[in-house]
Amino acid sequence: MNQEIYEVAIIGAGVCGTSLLYTLSKYSNVQHIAILEKESAVALVNSHKNSNSQTLHFGDIETNYTLSKARKVNKAASLLKNYLLENDLEQKIHTKYHKMVLAVGAEQTAKMQQRYEEFKQLFPDLKLINREAIKQLEPKVLEGRATNEIVTALYTTEGYTINFQNLAQSFLDNAVKDSKKTIDVMLNHKVISITPEDGYYVIQTSGKTIKAKTVAVTAGAHSLLWAKSLGYGQDYALLSVAGSFYFAPALLKGKVYTVQLKKLPFAAIHGDPEVDNQNITRFGPTAKVLPMLERHNYATVLEYFQTAGLSFKAIASFVKILSDLTILRYIILNLLYDVPILGKRLFIKQVRKIIPSIKLKDLKFAQGYGGIRPQIVNLNTQSLELGEAKIIGDRIIFNITPSPGASTCLQNAEDDTVKLISFLGDNYKFNRKEFLQDLSPEIVTNI
Ligand SMILES: Cc1cc2nc3c(=O)[nH]c(=O)nc-3n(C[C@H](O)[C@H](O)[C@H](O)COP(=O)(O)OP(=O)(O)OC[C@H]3O[C@@H](n4cnc5c(N)ncnc54)[C@H](O)[C@@H]3O)c2cc1C
Repeated sequence: MNQEIYEVAIIGAGVCGTSLLYTLSKYSNVQHIAILEKESAVALVNSHKNSNSQTLHFGDIETNYTLSKARKVNKAASLLKNYLLENDLEQKIHTKYHKMVLAVGAEQTAKMQQRYEEFKQLFPDLKLINREAIKQLEPKVLEGRATNEIVTALYTTEGYTINFQNLAQSFLDNAVKDSKKTIDVMLNHKVISITPEDGYYVIQTSGKTIKAKTVAVTAGAHSLLWAKSLGYGQDYALLSVAGSFYFAPALLKGKVYTVQLKKLPFAAIHGDPEVDNQNITRFGPTAKVLPMLERHNYATVLEYFQTAGLSFKAIASFVKILSDLTILRYIILNLLYDVPILGKRLFIKQVRKIIPSIKLKDLKFAQGYGGIRPQIVNLNTQSLELGEAKIIGDRIIFNITPSPGASTCLQNAEDDTVKLISFLGDNYKFNRKEFLQDLSPEIVTNI
């Protein structure tokens, strides 16, 4: 069989794989790159417009982030913001809206004031605003709210809503545009096996077989399955957390978050206008545990069980996580949100924390929307981990990307490029300075 040899093969063309392709193509001297995708176009799974919350997370109003987590996410998200400001002048990928996180009642307000003091240095645009200011910005948030209810908010104009599907296409287009390199984009090529052989990886797909010196697996939840098949990541399992959404008419002008529930590694319910249609407000995401790797793809149920593993360690970890009553109650309630008739009646209680006057007839289940967040379960600590995970093997990298994996895609691409270049050896270079000059001009002056 005639096999092509690539320096890097990227498996999965969501926002993670395409941002890596873009970074390698533009800022390294790697000459032969393949990107393999099982679907007929890029970003049809979690990076699809309908699958996620379309938010560029910086960590300023995400109350589940500590200051140190926010510092990391802010640095990563700023790379993407700068990419958009440079490459999306016509705003086909993003829309800028204001955003706020609401504190309701004395306890939340005191915490919000504390948070503001702690975070304002990192986020100079952040403001603590009162009831009157909220009313000016988002009248519906105050309409019908008890007059004696204390309401404050952390607010910033720096809210970016992103169509991550269009972003992935933009990364791909810019990676191949004017490039003299060999960049093979293989859509409709499902990877069936990855086998290390004589210093290469042999990758068999539904279409053809290729060889690569190094591999980056950016296949979402499937990345852990691939890692395990090659003997890595044995200390991890996944809790697949699907997120559904509800639609309402134009009620909000920007993003309005609620305060994060403690212990839960998922974003709190929020409402915001669709990236490309201000007349639709979306509320969500819910958090429904499902035994599958891709939403609406029932062929991935078996793969989920292969990934989770049915070992004693895995089962003990799930039992321990679910024995926490806060988590268990939350999971059961979230399962009910998707149930016809009942779900809407339960979910509206969450929405009323944002829009007290919303009527049942204004909410509509967003059928077919919402992907799956592959939350990492650490089998050693028997706990859920927040955010993305990376497993590094012998000339191979695996990225598992729950939220905020789309916001941090360029940081992830930078980290992976550094690693892949080190795998490839001394003749290979990553022009990190130029990467940062383009995407993080404020950092590059300090290098
Ligand atoms: C409800 C919800 C809300 C979210 N909200 C946000 C948000 O607001 N902001 C944010 O930053 N993040 C958010 N996320 C997370 C974000 O969607 C993901 O982190 C991001 O899309 C991951 O990108 P990816 O490229 O790693 O994965 P994906 O986009 O899932 O891409 C993986 C690709 O790998 C391909 N693939 C898999 N197996 C194979 C194979 N065998 N062969 C070839 N190809 C294969 C798939 O077809 C797919 O195209 C949210 C996620 C969900 C579910």
